[in-house]
Order: sequence, then C-alpha cells, then structure tokens
Amino acid sequence: MHEAVLLWVYGTSALIAVVVIFATVRAPGLSSLRVGLLIYLTGTAWWATVDLLRVIIGPSSVQAIEAWTMPALALVVAGIRAGIHGATHPGRKLSAPDVVGFAAHPALTVIAASLPMLWGLVAVKGEDGSVAYGPLFWANVAITYSLFTIATIEMFKGRHDSSIFTGRNAPLIASFWAIPIVASVVTVVISSPAGIDLTAPAFALTSLLIWRAVVPLEMRQAVRIARSQVLEELADAVIVLGNQGHILDANAAALRVVGAQGPASAYIDKPLRQVWPCIADAVMHPGEHDLTVAGADVVLDVTISPLSEANGAPSGRAVVLRDVTDAVLQRRELAHLRTELADLVVRDAVTGLHNRRYAEQTLPQSLARCVAKRVPMSIAVIDVDHFKAVNDTYGHPVGDRVLRELASAMLEEVPSSTLARIGGEEFLILLPGLTSEQAFAHTEGLRDACARASVSTREGALHVTVSAGVATTGDGARSVAVLMDAADAALYHAKREGRDRTCVAQPGFVAVGGA
Ligand code: GH3
Ligand code: MG
Ligand code: MG
Repeated sequence: MHEAVLLWVYGTSALIAVVVIFATVRAPGLSSLRVGLLIYLTGTAWWATVDLLRVIIGPSSVQAIEAWTMPALALVVAGIRAGIHGATHPGRKLSAPDVVGFAAHPALTVIAASLPMLWGLVAVKGEDGSVAYGPLFWANVAITYSLFTIATIEMFKGRHDSSIFTGRNAPLIASFWAIPIVASVVTVVISSPAGIDLTAPAFALTSLLIWRAVVPLEMRQAVRIARSQVLEELADAVIVLGNQGHILDANAAALRVVGAQGPASAYIDKPLRQVWPCIADAVMHPGEHDLTVAGADVVLDVTISPLSEANGAPSGRAVVLRDVTDAVLQRRELAHLRTELADLVVRDAVTGLHNRRYAEQTLPQSLARCVAKRVPMSIAVIDVDHFKAVNDTYGHPVGDRVLRELASAMLEEVPSSTLARIGGEEFLILLPGLTSEQAFAHTEGLRDACARASVSTREGALHVTVSAGVATTGDGARSVAVLMDAADAALYHAKREGRDRTCVAQPGFVAVGGA
C-alpha cells in the first residue's frame, strides 16, 4: 500500500514533467528562456524517475540510486540558470561559454554517478544496515544551492532588462522555487534516503506553476523584442534621451544620421552633447533645423515626445529626426522661383526697371497713403524726345541701349521702387510727399541726368533729351486717372513748347479734369 502511494506520487510527478516538456516544446519559438525551462523539466522528470526506480528496485541499490539523483539536481539548477540568463538578456542567443558554464555541473555529476567506486561517497551504509548521506551528496547539495543563490541574485539584478521578472514577478517566481527547496530540506531532515522523497512532486508542481507564469509573459517579451526590431528598422532616426540628456537608446538610422561608427551600445549612457554635438541643440527644439552633420549640409525635421514613468514622473524624451533635406531644398528652390517669377511679371526686360503693371499696382497705393497722411502726391511722366529718329538713324539695338542708359541714369537719382517704364520710351516716377515745386525741381534733376547720359556709337557719343510732365494732387484730384491725365497734358505741353523741358500741370487743369 505504502509502495503503491510512492509509485503513484513519483509516477505522476514524472508524467507532469514530461507533459510540460511537450507543451513547452510545442509553443512557437524556442528562446533561451524556454531552453532553460526544458532543462529544468528534464531534471524534474529524471528526479521522479530515479525516485520510481528507488521504489521498484528496492533498498539494495540505494547508493546507485542516490548517485543518479545528483545529475537530476544539477540539471534543475542548470535549467534555472539558463532560464534566468535568457530572460535577463532578451533577444540574445546563448553563447558557447554560457553553454559550457551551465553544462559543467550536470556533466560532472553524470561522471560521478557513472563511477560505482564513488557511490560510497554519496550514500554511506552503516553497520546496522542504515543508510546516511555521504560527503559527495553534501558537496553536490552545497554546489547546487550556491549556483541557485547566484542565479536568484542575477534574476533580481537583471529584472530591469527583462519583461518577465518585472514588478512582482521576480519574488513570485522565486517563491515557486522555494517549494522544492522546502520539500528537499524537509525530506533530508525528516527522512532517510530510503524514506519518501517530497522533492520530486514539489519540482513537478513548480514546473507547472512556472510554465503557467512564464509562457504568457514570454509572449510579451517576444512583442517587446519585435518592437525593438521595428525601431531598429525605421528609416527615421530615433534617439531616446534621459532627463539629463544622456543617450538611452538610438536606432541604426540615428547612427547613420550623425555618422557614428560602431554599435549603438558604444554611445548608450553617454551625454548626447558630448558624443553628437552637431545635433545637441536640434534635439531640444521641434521643427526643421539646418545642420552640418558629418560634413554634409542637411535639414532635419525634429519631433520630440516626452516620456514618463508609470507614476507620471518625467523620464526623458524620444526624439525622431527625419532627413527632409531633399524636400526642403526643392521647396526653397520653388519659393525662390516663385519670387523670381513674381518679380519678372512686374519687370521690363529691356531696362530691368519696373513695368507698367507694377506702376498700375503701386501708384494707387502710394496715392492712398499720401491722401491718408494728408501730404501731396506728385508724379512725373518722362518721354524721350524724337526717339523714333534714334531708331531710324542708329537702329533698334542702339535705341535699346539708349533706353538702358537713361534707366541707369535715373536710378542714380531715385529709388527703383518709384521708377517704372510705362511705354516704349516713356517713364513714370512717383514722387510721394512732394509739392508741385519740389516735384518740378526733382524732375529737372532727372531730365538733366538723362541729358548727360550718352551711348557710344560708330558715329560718336549719342545724347538724347527728354521732356517731362509733372502733376500733383490738389484739393479735388484724388484719383490716379486724373493725376495721370494731368501729367500727360503737362508732357504734351512740354513737347509742344519745344521739348527738352519740364512742364507742370496747372491746378486749373486738375479742377477741370474733376475728381
Ligand atoms: P516725341 O519727341 O514726340 O516723343 O517723338 P518720338 O519719336 O519719341 O515719339 P514716337 O511716339 O513717334 O516714337 C516712339 C518710338 O519709340 C517708336 C518706337 O519705334 C520706339 N520704341 C518703342 N519701344 C521701343 C523699344 O523697346 N526699343 C526701341 N529701340 N525703340 C522703341
Ligand atoms: Mg518720344
Ligand atoms: Mg512716347
């Protein structure tokens, strides 16, 4: 009856371990964490099997059986160590030295168990037929618990790198492990090697608990790894900064943008201002930044997202840097062309002066400003004398040169914003704020400048004269049309009077023209 209970207990423990082994293998993806769990389960199944053999074979081979328990214990601890290593180094495969480190202890126990001459050191038979644990048994227990303690410390130390041991999970998983420890201590203290072994069912129970706790958590870790891979693959540079401006993370694109050599880990925890000074100011301010990075002129569009701890305290910021150089250069080129085009529309191709369209836009504005300020507004229309004869005598190209010479001569006297070529050989000058007398004097100065201008021809220096008509706003003249008509009338008068002179429209005319 007693034997039947033991067989049932050990058999069930072994069965549970085997079932969980299959469940663990079947779950997709074999991480080092899962490999650790499998080693742990193998140790558990082994342990339960040795317990079964103890019952079946009987006390005669107690030394062999105790010797073969040692690898089971070693495997359990090796599994725990590998699992903790896997969970605290997510995404990293076990290295060869890691594997050797984890396998050494189980391998040594297998060697020890295979040598019958050592069995006497595992279980010592007394004179009276009683059996007690020997020095090799205790040595294995000591090694096992030392490794187990180190692994548990590593779990707590590395819990920040692991999505499995975060929060309450580390103490929870540690409490699962406590079950077989308590069971084995109770077994050793209250029972002899021939008595009931509570360790095997305790290990089996712990396997179930860990499997239930770890597999769903491991899925979360897989998602975390996937997320970090997505970050790595992003075309935009992403840099995570701590509160003090230290680099907490940087993806491959970030390293490319700053022209950094080596892996991101070489820059982690370093102050960004120190290692990548070229972007230090840009990462503080969202928007577009013109920078020289790694010898190249680039435009980076910066987006900053503040990061916070679970309790809401600020923990740093995620900075996304998008290289918008091509798009921005195109945009600037387009804006430049648009400005140039807008300027071309109001420019005269022959002289480079503003054209009639410009004059029609600015004259009303200038007049309105003068009316608002209650100051006079004067204009002058200047026309080249006998220009047709210049063309006829010297040819059209010379005529063009004359127009250009006159334009530059007048530009010496007045700002370009007030001068326009409004017809073939006709110019308009805006003289805001000038009274009739002042405008006359000013126009005389322009006429003089034109008379002094000359164009060299094969027949020698060519001089031309100009005639000018000046008009000024009066009480009744507040419209552009009236002002232009008055100036034209004055110009016509100047031509009639013999050219090469300036005439001023009489107030009487303005009154006649009406407002
Ligand atoms: P007036 O003293 O009465 O003004 O006589 P004018 O010959 O200057 O006047 P008219 O209106 O008879 O002739 C103007 C000439 O200006 C006719 C035209 O061939 C010439 N012209 C107009 N635009 C241009 C131009 O862009 N280049 C050149 N070379 N000549 C032009
Ligand atoms: Mg003319
Ligand atoms: Mg004319």
